[in-house]
Amino acid sequence: MPKIHILPERVANQIAAGEVVERPAAVIKELIENSLDAGATRIEVEFRQGGRELLRVEDNGCGMSREDALLALERHATSKIAETADIDRLATFGFRGEALPSIASVSSFTLQTRAENEDVGTEIRIEGGKQIHVRDCGRPVGTSVEAARLFHPVPARRKFLKTDATEAGHLVQCVRLYALACPRVAFTLIEDGRVAFRSPQCETLAERVGEIFGSQMAERMIPIEAGEPGLRLSGLIGRPGEGRSTRHELMTFVNGRPVDSRALSFALRESYRDSLPEGRYPRAILFLACDPADVDVNVHPAKREVRFRREQQVRGFVIRCVLERLRELGTEAGSAIAPIPARPAGLGEPAAAYGFAGSPPVAPGAVPAALPAEAATRSGQPSAATEGVAAREARVRTWRFLGIAHNLYALFETPSGIVLLDRRAAHERIWFERLKGQFAAGRVPGQRLLLPLPLELEPVAAAILLDSRPFIEAHGFEIADFGANFFRIEAVPQWMEPAYAESFIKDVLGELRDGRLALGNLDLARDELARLAASRVVRLPAASGASEMESLAVQLFATESPLASPAGRPTFIEIDRAELARRF
Ligand code: ADP
Ligand code: MG
Repeated sequence: MPKIHILPERVANQIAAGEVVERPAAVIKELIENSLDAGATRIEVEFRQGGRELLRVEDNGCGMSREDALLALERHATSKIAETADIDRLATFGFRGEALPSIASVSSFTLQTRAENEDVGTEIRIEGGKQIHVRDCGRPVGTSVEAARLFHPVPARRKFLKTDATEAGHLVQCVRLYALACPRVAFTLIEDGRVAFRSPQCETLAERVGEIFGSQMAERMIPIEAGEPGLRLSGLIGRPGEGRSTRHELMTFVNGRPVDSRALSFALRESYRDSLPEGRYPRAILFLACDPADVDVNVHPAKREVRFRREQQVRGFVIRCVLERLRELGTEAGSAIAPIPARPAGLGEPAAAYGFAGSPPVAPGAVPAALPAEAATRSGQPSAATEGVAAREARVRTWRFLGIAHNLYALFETPSGIVLLDRRAAHERIWFERLKGQFAAGRVPGQRLLLPLPLELEPVAAAILLDSRPFIEAHGFEIADFGANFFRIEAVPQWMEPAYAESFIKDVLGELRDGRLALGNLDLARDELARLAASRVVRLPAASGASEMESLAVQLFATESPLASPAGRPTFIEIDRAELARRF
C-alpha cells in the first residue's frame, strides 16, 4: 500500500478551517463579506455565548440557486475569480472559495438561500462536513448562514477559544468595522438575544459613526480628505490630545476593506507623536484608496493584514496629510477663539540676521497685503488650508517669543495659545527651499578653497563620481582628478562649510549608488540633493534672542510648505487655549 494518499475532502477542509476561521469573529467576517459581495443592503448578525453556541448572518443579497448553493460548499468554489491575475483587480471581498466549506466542516451548518428568479428556497444542512440534507425551504430572496456549536467536530480547537466575553468583543469589533466600511448597508447585531446595535442605511460615514459610537464621538472627530496621484485618503480622525489607551478606535481600511496595516497605523501614531502622550493611540477611521495592484491582500489567509508595494510612499503620504489636517485644526480653532490684536505683538524688525548672509528679508509688501486676508480669516471665511502665504505671514507676526527649551524648541505665545517650534526642523525647511530655488535657477555660487581637500574613494564610488561629476559640479563643487580613485575638492558651494564637503560628497555618491538619488529626472535629483544638504550639512546656528527666533518663524512661514521639514517631521506644534484649559 502506498504511504502517500490524498486527504479526504472533509479533513482537508478542517485543516483549512484552522487558517480561515481561527475564531468566531473570523467566521462572521467571512459571512459578512459574502453578504456584501452578494449586494446586500441589509445584514443581520447574531451570535450567542461569544459565538461558540451560535453564529448567524442573514442578508437580502442576490441569493443562490440550488445548484450554486451546492457548488458553493465545494472547496475552491468561487464565483469571483477565474485566474490568478484576477486577484490584482479584485473588487469583491472574498475570492478563495474556502470560507463556506471550511465553516461547514467545523460546525453544525445550515444554509438557506433563495435567488431572485426562484419560487422556492434551498436549505442545506451539514454536520461537521457531512451533508445531512438538501431540501426546499421558504424564505425571502437572500441568504442566511448559521454555524452552531463551532469547532465541536474538532474539540482540540474549541479549547483554544477565549472566554465568551473576549470572543464577543472580537465579534462586536468585527461587525463595527464592516458597518463603518459600508455606511449604506443597514446592520443589526444581536448578542445573546438582545440587539447590541442597529443602524439603518446611512448617507455618510459620520452618520454611521454616530449610530455605532454615539453622536458625541461623531461630533468630536474631524473629517479628513486628501489626495495625490494614485493615493486618496478620507475618513475621520481624532483631535490632538484625545488619545485612547487601546488601539480599538484606530481603524484602517484599504480600498474599502477593513485591514490591519503596519504602515497605516505607524503613520497615524507618528502623526500624533507630538499631540498625544506616549503610549496613547489616536482615534481614526481612515480610508486609503490606491491601485489594487499596489496592495497585497493575500498575505494572511483571513486577509486582515495587508502590505503595500510602496510602503514608504504610503506612509509619507498619510503622515503629511494627517499632520496638515491637525495643523489646520490648530489654526482654525485659534482664529475662532482669540481676537487678533490690531498691532502685531513683537517682531519689530524682520531681522535678516538669521544666519543667511545676504538672504532677502521677508518682502515688505507682504504685510499690508496680509491685513485684509487676516481680517477675512477672522470673519471665518478661508480656513488655514486656503489661506495664502501673506495671511500666514501676518499670522506668524503675532507670535511672541518667550524662550528656548533644550536648545531646540522655541516657545512662542500666540493670540490663540502657544506654539513650540522645532528649530532644527524649521531651519531645514527654510534651507531646503532656498537651496531648491538656487538649484532650479542654475546658479549655485561656489567658493574656491585655498587648500583643496583630498577625497579618496572606493573604486565603485569613484566610478559613480566620474559619471555624475557634471551634476555635482553644476551645484557649486569643483572636483579634480588626482590619480586612480583619488580626487581633490577645489571648490565647495558658498553655503557649505568646507569641513563638511567630503562627507557630503560621499553621501551623495551613496544615494546615487542605491538609487535614492537618480539623475534621470533632474528636478527630483535636485530636490533630493537639497534635502540631503538641508538635513546633513547646513549647520544649526546657536540659539539666540527674540528677534532671531521671530525671524526664523517668519522665514519658515514664507516657505512653500512651512508645516513639515523636508523629511516630513513637523516644524511646530500649536496648542490652543481651549486645549490648554481642557488639559488643566
Ligand atoms: P468566496 O467568497 O471566496 O468566493 P466562499 O466559500 O465564501 O468563497 O463562497 C463561495 C461562493 O458562494 C461565493 O463565490 C458566492 O458565489 C457564493 N455565496 C456565498 N455566500 C453568499 C451569499 N451570502 N449570497 C450569495 N452568494 C453567496
Ligand atoms: Mg467568501
